[in-house]
Amino acid sequence: MPGNGASAVHTGQTLQAAQTFFDQLNRDYVAVHKRKEDLFWATYMATSEDHEGFGRAETDYKAFISDPEKLSATRAHLAAVESAAASAGKGSIPVGVDAGAAADARQALAHGLRGWLGVFEANIVDNDEGRRLMAELIEAERVLFAKRKDFAPTHVNDRGDTEAATLTMLSTNAATNPDESRRRSSYEALHGLERWVLENGFLEIVALRNRLARALGFPDYFEMKLRKNERMTKAELFGVLDDFVARTASAQQRAHDALVAKHGPDALQPWNLRFHSAGDVTRRMDPYMPFGPALRRWVRSFRRLGIQYRGATMRLDLLQRPGKYQNGFCHGPLPTWSGLASAVKLISPACHRPCSSNHVGSGARAMMTLFHEGGHAAHFANVTQNSPCFSQEFAPTSMAYAETQSMFCDSLLGDADWLKRYARTVDGQAIPDELIHDRIASAQPMRAFDERAIAVVPYFEAALYAMADEDRTPESVLALARTMERRIQGVDRAPRPILAIPHLLNQESAASYQGYLLAHMAVYQTRAFFLRRDGYLTDNAAIGPALAQAYWAPGNSLSHDATLRRLTGEGFSARYLAEACDETVEQAWAKARDLLEASERRGERTDDGPPLDAHVRVVHGAELLADNGDGGAAAEQAMFDRFEQWIGAHYGAPPSPTAAAAAH
Ligand SMILES: [Zn+2]
Repeated sequence: MPGNGASAVHTGQTLQAAQTFFDQLNRDYVAVHKRKEDLFWATYMATSEDHEGFGRAETDYKAFISDPEKLSATRAHLAAVESAAASAGKGSIPVGVDAGAAADARQALAHGLRGWLGVFEANIVDNDEGRRLMAELIEAERVLFAKRKDFAPTHVNDRGDTEAATLTMLSTNAATNPDESRRRSSYEALHGLERWVLENGFLEIVALRNRLARALGFPDYFEMKLRKNERMTKAELFGVLDDFVARTASAQQRAHDALVAKHGPDALQPWNLRFHSAGDVTRRMDPYMPFGPALRRWVRSFRRLGIQYRGATMRLDLLQRPGKYQNGFCHGPLPTWSGLASAVKLISPACHRPCSSNHVGSGARAMMTLFHEGGHAAHFANVTQNSPCFSQEFAPTSMAYAETQSMFCDSLLGDADWLKRYARTVDGQAIPDELIHDRIASAQPMRAFDERAIAVVPYFEAALYAMADEDRTPESVLALARTMERRIQGVDRAPRPILAIPHLLNQESAASYQGYLLAHMAVYQTRAFFLRRDGYLTDNAAIGPALAQAYWAPGNSLSHDATLRRLTGEGFSARYLAEACDETVEQAWAKARDLLEASERRGERTDDGPPLDAHVRVVHGAELLADNGDGGAAAEQAMFDRFEQWIGAHYGAPPSPTAAAAAH
């Protein structure tokens, strides 16, 4: 037909223009993202003082993802691609082009553009007032962060010395120091940090955040973050949380009553609660969770699960340094994508969590870091879409979806069969059953409390952002924190004062903490699925590939709920986590024994599983401690040996089981 030739040429040009726009968007994004993330890492790791450079890079990044022109261009190109697809359906196919291949290319292009539309819609600041407030907010946070680096709380450590302490050191000492007054010194320092935050700009930042949210048409900042991050309303969130809180109330009360019955009314003091419920076991676990071998155990365990990294480079920075950011995180300077042949190479993600090898529990913490942040890295490295917009960690990527992946991995560390196989002294002595039992006996009663210690944060933040500016004073906000701790955690003061939680300060993580609890619910749903289907989790080779296919590959192109349905066949449910929290010690121990028996019957796997397919670099700031070279077995072994030697040389040998038992 005569008209078709011209129409096909026009369609071809339209598609070509859309493709060019899409390719350019992908390339530009990667450049601006990488510059920001590299400076983020350097300033947070205290290897750079370039806070202004980081501020500028962050402003550039924000400008990119909230650019109204990019949004309208994306809309226009997407509409053109979709209408080209519709007319192609009526028979107008460019001559000489394979119809199936052309349709696939159009579909891929439309998919990618829809991904960008999601990013711009989640981040757009579409008026001048909003843009001005955003710039002001970034500056206010930069100032607070720079001041915070110079503020060093002090406490009394286990040798009786007063020392400057990081957040990790404070909470470890508050939970494990055998001397009550020394534990108390750590709690008081955390509480002092609350005051410091309230008197050094946090309240002004809260007010600014609310003004920004209102300029963008939301009632307040909490509601805005929730809608953008989890695609949930406050009513939906608190529907889930209220239900969870109701289901776990009696389990928490039972635990508090038991502590008071055993240790007296002071057992619920914030510096006693964690000590009485966990201190002894943490200390006894220490010899079986040495710091040095943590790296080796993580790699072996992940390999046997069939987790792979598709050629990613991972930089692990595990050790404490002055000025280094104190919470663990994983970030990806170069998001995964496969749109251009030249960009298929994956660099990063990188992980870090502060650990101090000379404190009790530091080996377990290192293990936790590797499993948790390594889980994030596995997720982001396995997104297999055609644009970096699907594999970047910010909105519209749901935080709960992202944390489901990392928390599923770290949940394995608590399993009896995992402990039996991997928790060993440096001489290879396996953890005794009795200690596994005692661990359950101390942790299980506290599980409801632990989850509710997460729930308390969104209850607090929602109320904080709902307050009128003039009502928000240091005193009223401290009172609100204590009220929420009482209501949700059932104690006058919680062991971890809410305002000492660093997530509240940073714009990326503020008003997002509920993601951890929602993720935990999804983790228990996922665990229940594998346990039902395969009977076990530890070293289960089917897990890595199943997660990669159902949860990781789509990135943010699917909702959290949709990924859960792909794997487990059912939508988001809080039931499995609430049931796990409500188990008695006897019930939990019976399940653990079943796992141990089943594991014994299966026997230990003789193979190591497939290689990680990752370039692993263990660093300490700018110093390279060890790496896995070409990724072969010998190079991997050499990395483990070098890391263990380095740790041994700098921190000495971990305690023996007898010494750890005697120390308490
Ligand atoms: Zn995480």
